[in-house]
Amino acid sequence: MSYFSDLGLAEPILRALGTKGYSEPTPIQRQAIPALLEGRDLLGIAQTGTGKTAAFSLPSLHRLAADVQPRKPASCRMLVLSPTRELAAQIAENMRGYAKYLNLSVQCIFGGIPVGKQARALVPGCDILVATPGRLLDHHQQGTLDLKHVEIFVLDEADRMLDMGFIHDIKKVLAVLPAKKQSLLFSATFSDEIKALADRLLNAPVLIEVARRN
Ligand code: AMP
Repeated sequence: MSYFSDLGLAEPILRALGTKGYSEPTPIQRQAIPALLEGRDLLGIAQTGTGKTAAFSLPSLHRLAADVQPRKPASCRMLVLSPTRELAAQIAENMRGYAKYLNLSVQCIFGGIPVGKQARALVPGCDILVATPGRLLDHHQQGTLDLKHVEIFVLDEADRMLDMGFIHDIKKVLAVLPAKKQSLLFSATFSDEIKALADRLLNAPVLIEVARRN
């Protein structure tokens, strides 16, 4: 048996996990957290239900909190790209819970609601931005979002994104992100297309493959 406290996460994060009632890390968390804390890139072949959201969120929050930076207008330090608004909202909600005792802000943007209100929320800048690809690009093209300061990039459910026809949007996002960043790619399946995307995005990644929890 192992504990979150063995993995090197900061105390405010351990406290938030205690509040949520998590005691043991899941297999993907146990494998991913130490490598991500070191700043490694990661290719995770894992489905929803394995605990992958916490696997990428906890070490990222730790790293962001360990290197405090003033918020830059209309910017974010971590970008999580998700295929659907439901998933984006769920990731943002989970991350707010894990960041409860840290001074880090989480914003979420997706299509289907007015752009103007979201643009106003982006003005002061945030630490973590969770977004769907189309709406993210809308904001970037309108100049209401600056992606030059992204330090950590997560492409979640990459296979689903490709199935939904987001490949061009993903390529556009990759083209405007800084070259120097920590990158993570999660996919439930590993096809040639995912391999090509991983080769393009990731630098000497740690590979973690886990089976579905149930
Ligand atoms: P995910 O695969 O990230 O969608 O997570 C699946 C579910 O497991 C979510 O409801 C999480 O809140 C929960 N979860 C994640 N990690 C743990 C853990 N270490 N212990 C208990 N529940 C967890």
